[in-house]
Amino acid sequence: MPPVDRPLVRIEGLAKRFGEVEAVAGVDLEVGRGELFALLGGSGCGKTTLLRLLAGFETPDAGRVVIDGQDMTGVPPHLRPVNMMFQSYALFPHMDVAANIAYGLRREGTAKREIEARIDEALSLVKLEGLGARRPAQLSGGQRQRVALARALVKRPKLLLLDEPLAALDRKLREGTRFELVRLQEQLGLTFIVVTHDQEEAMSMAGRLAVMNGGRIVQVGRPHQIYEHPASRFVADFIGIANILDLGDGRWLALRPEKIALSIDRPATAQAISGDVVDIAYEGDRSLYRVAVKGSMVMLVSRANTIRTREDAFHRGQHVWLGWANDAGQVLHE
Ligand code: ATP
Repeated sequence: MPPVDRPLVRIEGLAKRFGEVEAVAGVDLEVGRGELFALLGGSGCGKTTLLRLLAGFETPDAGRVVIDGQDMTGVPPHLRPVNMMFQSYALFPHMDVAANIAYGLRREGTAKREIEARIDEALSLVKLEGLGARRPAQLSGGQRQRVALARALVKRPKLLLLDEPLAALDRKLREGTRFELVRLQEQLGLTFIVVTHDQEEAMSMAGRLAVMNGGRIVQVGRPHQIYEHPASRFVADFIGIANILDLGDGRWLALRPEKIALSIDRPATAQAISGDVVDIAYEGDRSLYRVAVKGSMVMLVSRANTIRTREDAFHRGQHVWLGWANDAGQVLHE
């Protein structure tokens, strides 16, 4: 990965251990100004710990964090140019929305008129105008998420850390809110680091993302780079669906299901293999076929359901051909 132009965040050799667990095991990473960067990984891979190290809620065992050119070693959370939006939102239930948003500003001793103006601005940014007097319990989950966001934005931190910001929302709301977050981040020109275990969320929102495993970053790149050119079998398997074919001599081919064409007759593609359809999962916009090929291997093939797709194009038990071009997959060495 080439160095980031004018990084806002520089993480160098960062490590944190809890007893036997190496939660963060030597991370180097740069995040640029104005980036929406995602940290993606499975449960327990160290995403939240890395975020907490950035915010100053944890002290590293080794390494350091530099934000905006300033070494953060020994700098407490409230003196960092950073705000964190927690997974649970952590809203104060006894305070109304306006007081929740104003909390950080009041603590800093900001003037009353300034606070009022900033509350109005924050409410309008997250489209909650007129709801300042409600208590959190009188809001929907989506509205509570917006209050938490407004509270995190009101101090205009250089860096906003968001821990699973959409996890508490239902699927439909989550999808809409993703675009909202991207819009706000662009509009305000802030730098966001978003932690998520949801690859679709990371891929659709982030300009760049880091895939984590076992406390380490295993790949950094733009979403399409990571999807099209995974660096390892772990990444190929973790992001999307991949057929991993053993090429022998320690090499594998990661082949995405949509790069394979299904046909009844032997195709003219460079690579072809035949098999029997064992399962068809209809997913609306596409169908996913599981095809048993030689050597008791099952390959996954996806096929877009276009206006011309006939429902009965292929059926279970049918003998079919799978074809793909020589450059359809990614050769892997680990
Ligand atoms: P999730 O998506 O489940 O929140 P995560 O990737 O955010 O996972 P972390 O919360 O960073 O993972 O945890 C990384 C590892 O460190 C886990 O094995 C976790 O159990 C451990 N861990 C985290 N915080 C502590 C702590 N305060 N004390 C002991 N172990 C901890």
